[in-house]
Amino acid sequence: MPELPEVETVRRGLLPVLEGAVIARAEVNRPDLRWPLPERMAERLEGRRVTALRRRSKYLLADLDSGETLLVHLGMSGRMLVSGVTLGQFHHDHPVPQKHDHVVLHMASGARITFNDARRFGAMDLMPTDRAAQHMLLKGLGPEPFGNDFNGPYLAGRLKGRRTPIKAALLDQRIVAGLGNIYVAETLYRARISPLRLAGELTETQAQGLVPVIREVLAEAIEAGGSSLRDFRQANGELGYFSKHFQVYDREGEPCETPGCSGTITRTVQSGRSSFWCPACQR
Ligand SMILES: [Zn+2]
Repeated sequence: MPELPEVETVRRGLLPVLEGAVIARAEVNRPDLRWPLPERMAERLEGRRVTALRRRSKYLLADLDSGETLLVHLGMSGRMLVSGVTLGQFHHDHPVPQKHDHVVLHMASGARITFNDARRFGAMDLMPTDRAAQHMLLKGLGPEPFGNDFNGPYLAGRLKGRRTPIKAALLDQRIVAGLGNIYVAETLYRARISPLRLAGELTETQAQGLVPVIREVLAEAIEAGGSSLRDFRQANGELGYFSKHFQVYDREGEPCETPGCSGTITRTVQSGRSSFWCPACQR
């Protein structure tokens, strides 16, 4: 499931073909994804120039010169494929249309952007740009992890007195936007804090110290995504999925990588989801 770094990687991969470019034709192959697609979607996209391609949490936002914004959520299995264009030294031919190609944007440049989503947990919507922040998927979101509003005193304040495990608190999108199971696991591991600890029991220093760790973990993943973009350009033009070495996520039974720690990575189920952590060095 794509998390913030994967979505940011998709955004960066789409920038050269989407930002400033005109959508010549939009192919909408079904009426719904997770929810119904917006009414007259193709009509509202066709002939429009994309003035900016932004990201908010795990959502892509393409601002159009019509005053509307196209929201794209990749969901569980959504994929973006770029073809018909030369990116750097690599050229991607248009692939044969696939079964789950639900929306295809034919750009005036000749580029083609295909949204493929086998499980259809993805979503697309159109809204007035000036009301985008009030969209039902965006309005409750907390600050962006890289934004100025997300800082030590803010996070410490939000965690103070909270009787939920720190893992649940960091997954709470109202506290910080865009963190999912993988990067919360990596963050708590690096901060040496147990996912089972109650949020309100962290010291002020620990709570504030999570902010730079979250940024570091996400920045490294985005960097890995950047490298993968160069590979994807070489491969088939598909954006956003890249292999990354995780220090703790999905490493149950393997030795802890923290220097001096002889612990073993353990999997604990919390609220129905796996937590990977080292009981020896995460307290
Ligand atoms: Zn350890």
